Amino acid sequence: MKACNNRACCTGFLDRTKNSSALYCSTGCSSQVASRAYRKRHSSGMSLAAPEREA
Ligand SMILES: [Zn+2]
Repeated sequence: MKACNNRACCTGFLDRTKNSSALYCSTGCSSQVASRAYRKRHSSGMSLAAPEREA
């Protein structure tokens, strides 16, 4: 079990990828986080490389 990287989701999910690289429970969550990170990047102008990642 892994925790979805979308902090608004908080869902545990089974990572079925070969190399255990899945970050989100669904593509909906990944696009949600991607669009949020995009807005954040464009509003602050900071943190160029860091992906949004809440432990
Ligand atoms: Zn999720």
